[in-house]
Amino acid sequence: MLDMKWIRESADHQEELQQVADRKGIALSIAELVGLDDQRRTLMSAVEALRQQRNAISQEISALVRQGKPDEAERQKQQVKTINEELDQQETLYREVNEAYNKLLILVPNIVSPDTPVGASDEDNVEIRRVGELPVFEYDLRDHVTLGELHRMIDIPRGVKTAGTRSYYLTGVGAMLHRAVQQLAVDMLVAKRFTLMDVPLTVRTEAMQNTAFFPLGQDQAFQITEQDKWLVGTSEVPLVSFYSGEVVDVAEPIRLAAASLCFRSEVGSGGRDVHGLYRVHQFAKVEQVVLCEASAEASEQLLQEITANAEELLQKLELPYRVVAVCTGDMSQKTYKQYDIETWMPSRGAYGETHSSSNLLDFQARRSNIRYRDEEGKLRYCHTLNNTAVASPRILIPLLENHQQPDGSILIPKALRPYMNGMERIELPN
Ligand code: AMP
Repeated sequence: MLDMKWIRESADHQEELQQVADRKGIALSIAELVGLDDQRRTLMSAVEALRQQRNAISQEISALVRQGKPDEAERQKQQVKTINEELDQQETLYREVNEAYNKLLILVPNIVSPDTPVGASDEDNVEIRRVGELPVFEYDLRDHVTLGELHRMIDIPRGVKTAGTRSYYLTGVGAMLHRAVQQLAVDMLVAKRFTLMDVPLTVRTEAMQNTAFFPLGQDQAFQITEQDKWLVGTSEVPLVSFYSGEVVDVAEPIRLAAASLCFRSEVGSGGRDVHGLYRVHQFAKVEQVVLCEASAEASEQLLQEITANAEELLQKLELPYRVVAVCTGDMSQKTYKQYDIETWMPSRGAYGETHSSSNLLDFQARRSNIRYRDEEGKLRYCHTLNNTAVASPRILIPLLENHQQPDGSILIPKALRPYMNGMERIELPN
């Protein structure tokens, strides 16, 4: 949510916001929003004036009754009746206008940072840096699905049999790898003084709205039928909501981490990424969430920090990757500035997104009502940030494909070996 005061403040702000809404692909007229706000303000003033008038006359009536003037009191009562009728009408009108206003207000996007590239889709994202050497295969490389079948660690047909499309089983060493990458990420974040949390994975509509996943992303979430509950698509929702409605201490930034399952309907992705483990309905993610003071410098520095954490993890996994600045058209409503990290996926002959690092400024904290006291004791909304530390099974794609050997075995990066019972290489089963 943005501050309505800021939106009303100048035509420039309104113009900037309209441009951001258009660029983020959000159907919203800022002029209509401001018009509705004008109307509700006028109606509220009228309602208040009528209430005051009614109170004044009521007092007069009491005085007239005390003075033994029943006829005059009766005349005034008629006037109160007329005022009440008008009040009813004005209040109904106010409620209608206010509802229409709130429906638009919740669609207002966050502004974007001045260094955000302008573009229509992920094709317009701008590469910032590349790290790591791309592997050269002097033999026919196998993709992760083939490797997974050879090693009996990925079973997509049985996943589909049990759970439908975009489903899978990880078995044996596949399931071990899936857990190993998560534990490596968790240990790395705990060593960096993140507080590890185990979080609710079914949340109320309010939590989805407060964290700005609803209403625009509602079709991405699975609902628990006949309940006001949803399966989370990311632990960012329960992590941020932990503090909703609270006044927090951000003298030191609050760094939170959670390893959780994530559920996504992937409505709208149609036939995209249907092969293998890239886009599935259920996956596991270790997430970083940070809350800090409302300082653009502080949150920018933290954005670099959480991005560096993800890069460190990829370096531990010995995977080549690149960092891209995400453009306006590929950003969500809540995002002010975003980097994606894309890891090299040999079978795609391309980098594929594995991490998403975002600074939301105070947009999410406003909706979630998370505040802190600044040095002068004034209550202010925090800035919030989030980034993936690792998401699996998507990360298994580059992990298996980049580390495959000509004989079909797969080398396990050194940092992962302690989490794989010391295993150095995954040999082909007999
Ligand atoms: P997001 O929370 O949408 O920024 O996604 C963070 C990361 O989660 C992505 O970079 C992917 O690694 C992973 N991810 C997101 N959606 C899916 C999905 N449908 N299937 C598998 N992994 C996903």
